[in-house]
Amino acid sequence: MAGEPQADCLFCKIVSGEVPATVVRETETTLAFRDINPQAPTHVLVIPKAHYADAASLAAGAPQLAADVLHEAGQVAADEKADRSGYRIVFNTGSGAGQTVFHAHAHVLGGRGLEWPPG
Ligand code: 5GP
Repeated sequence: MAGEPQADCLFCKIVSGEVPATVVRETETTLAFRDINPQAPTHVLVIPKAHYADAASLAAGAPQLAADVLHEAGQVAADEKADRSGYRIVFNTGSGAGQTVFHAHAHVLGGRGLEWPPG
């Protein structure tokens, strides 16, 4: 069921504490933690604690929660001072776009120049 924890989901296991992570921010509904394979000096993942497979299903099923994730992404950028030179919020959606973990997450990337278009 949408929003319910999934036993085989890595990010649900991070939410429950079964898998450790370096948490940088937490709210009642969201968690922000450092990516294990950072692609920039700031590379933080912001997730809803509830399980939604991707950004589109999150926005459709729980719009306020999607807004919470975006709000926290901005707060992460401010905490990391990445907002001074610009940063990127990325939701890879679908395996063809590089999504490998099917629990909605925003990548917050900053602290270096970011090219456009992305690869
Ligand atoms: P995606 O490719 O789905 O957009 O992003 C998944 C991200 O999760 C990748 O950037 C990957 O490095 C990160 N990741 C995968 N496994 C772990 C883990 O166990 N811990 C943390 N903190 N990040 C992970």
